[in-house]
Amino acid sequence: MNEPGVIAYHGKDNIYLNITNRCTCACTFCLREFTDEVYGYPLLLAHEPSLDEITHALELAFLDEPADEVVFCGLGEPTLRLPEVLATTEWLRLRRIRARLNTNGLGQLANPGVEVVPALVRAGLGGVSVSLNAADPQTYDRLCQPIYAKAFRAVLAFTRACVAAGLDTAMTVVDHPDIDVEACAALADRLGAAFRVRGRAVDRHRPAPRTPAAPATTAGPVRRSPTGG
Ligand code: SF4
Repeated sequence: MNEPGVIAYHGKDNIYLNITNRCTCACTFCLREFTDEVYGYPLLLAHEPSLDEITHALELAFLDEPADEVVFCGLGEPTLRLPEVLATTEWLRLRRIRARLNTNGLGQLANPGVEVVPALVRAGLGGVSVSLNAADPQTYDRLCQPIYAKAFRAVLAFTRACVAAGLDTAMTVVDHPDIDVEACAALADRLGAAFRVRGRAVDRHRPAPRTPAAPATTAGPVRRSPTGG
């Protein structure tokens, strides 16, 4: 039997939270297509953790090692568990620990009864990274395969709301040959968000295709990180 997925795991100088494996997209480049591990940790959850299980996992992770911030990330879309994201963020804020949300930016569509960005701000969220991955709706739908119509527009609106609310906001793209990195960087810039290029998951059974180097962008330095979110 496979090892059950971990809820909290260390990576770089952060602690990452894996609270759901569900997602409202089915990105063609998603890590889930290739692996159920990140940083060597199994992330396929046996069940979605309760708030108590999340905070207990955080306490254990902090006992292991300190961290600069806690990031909602994992193999799934955290805003599908918005009540747990809000409660955990508040739990962290009371302990003066910064929380960041890695999201596909479709949380408002997933939670139509809540004003999601104001709720995140009230809970004390420190920053948000929104997956952009395309500079136009057609490419977005093809690469990210969202369950919603007009999802690309929702991603931009979510990002705009985060910037307007004063959240430390970044947009990210995956290093992928079908993604126009320069156009995405310009779009992030227009929205007032920082911009970052993420490394792409590699199918262990297939050689990685060659990808051109990312061009310079207008949105400040492009940083690359090994995992998504
Ligand atoms: S939004 Fe993230 S978790 Fe969801 S399918 Fe895309 S890459 Fe995977």
